[in-house]
Amino acid sequence: MLRRLSDYRGIVSDAKISEIHRKSRKLYKKHILHISSTPYGGGVAEILRSIIPLFNDMGLYVGWRTMIGSPDFFRVTKKFHNALQGDDITITHKKTELYEDTNKLFSRFTHIDHDLVVIHDPQPLPIIACYRKRQPWIWRCHIDLSRPHRKLWNYMKGFILSYDMVVYQMEEFAAHGIPGDFKVIKPSIDPLSMKNMELPKSTIKKYVKRTGVDVKRPLITQISRFDKWKDTEGVIKVFDIIRKEMDCQLLLVGDIALDDPEAQAMYERVLSIVKGSKDVRVILGAHDVMVNAIQRASDVVLQKSIREGFGLTVSEALWKGTPVVASKVGGIPAQVVDGINGYLVRPNDYVGTAKKVMDILSDKNMRKEMGRNAKRHVKENFLVTRHIEEWIDLWVEMLSW
Ligand code: UDP
Repeated sequence: MLRRLSDYRGIVSDAKISEIHRKSRKLYKKHILHISSTPYGGGVAEILRSIIPLFNDMGLYVGWRTMIGSPDFFRVTKKFHNALQGDDITITHKKTELYEDTNKLFSRFTHIDHDLVVIHDPQPLPIIACYRKRQPWIWRCHIDLSRPHRKLWNYMKGFILSYDMVVYQMEEFAAHGIPGDFKVIKPSIDPLSMKNMELPKSTIKKYVKRTGVDVKRPLITQISRFDKWKDTEGVIKVFDIIRKEMDCQLLLVGDIALDDPEAQAMYERVLSIVKGSKDVRVILGAHDVMVNAIQRASDVVLQKSIREGFGLTVSEALWKGTPVVASKVGGIPAQVVDGINGYLVRPNDYVGTAKKVMDILSDKNMRKEMGRNAKRHVKENFLVTRHIEEWIDLWVEMLSW
């Protein structure tokens, strides 16, 4: 399933493919390294899995390493992640010591002699302090920084200030007192991956049936890691409101990322809430084709997040022509155009959210129209080809400094 840039012909123009190849020539012989915290689970891994092989197919040397850390380290970094998204935290010496020491240890088995380094998210952020810096470093932040915990952010800034560039998901996240250069690069989906490729109707039906869902009845879905920011419990509340008014089913598809020690408890909590409900199904760890089939078969996809860095699941569903009802947080408003390809709602407005879902469920023509708009919006804005081109532009610019 290795893809080449030329495979995207027909989805994007030949001129665009040729332009990306031409731009990448300036990076020949340059070695670029990405470091992130987990090889699977969540949007960062999803994106790196699709873009890294493409860069290499184009003749570049772009590598990806994932952090090695203890469960305690990931417990601390999850707390940091939560606090950067607005939670409270007690910052103790024990936490910062474990955070920094794990990065120091990781640096002992991670030689870096690359021409440029891209660090993703807070987990490996301090690793920059473990090397004699002799190349440009980028911090790529994927989280919702709309309301970071002040004191923790100030501590994080101590590391961020050494970076040459910070890359955010959204313009709004770029404030908060980081004085250096920044860029906004929005994420993307890969239209040819197993998660997003076209599927025959029979395959869609086969996989959706396996979830236990009745393919003839209306289906509402949310696909998210089991994480409190995704508000799966809120989704169930919204569904309960809808179910009183009309016949439908809810599918909650979720997984547990390697770097998230809170997910198991959240999963168990969701199971206990829906226990006994014949119209709600919870699927753990669905493979990519199954997720693909579910997104295609759903009548509405919900993304009821309280905070959201970007929310790749939104573009994934839109690409498949499925309208999305989603909270107006983080990167979601860039993807959902209210009333055109879905609806934007306030995260705590359960009744309003239920109403929007019902509006879509009860109007087949609108659903089809929204679906067409949805695919077009993703095609114009959130495909992997645009994403890799923006990275190439930035790397070329930074390596010419
Ligand atoms: N995902 C998945 N299976 C699941 C839950 C999520 O494959 O059970 C994928 C989803 O399709 C998307 C990514 O994980 O590609 C989630 O990315 P997003 O940006 O929406 O959220 P994040 O998890 O990064 O906060």
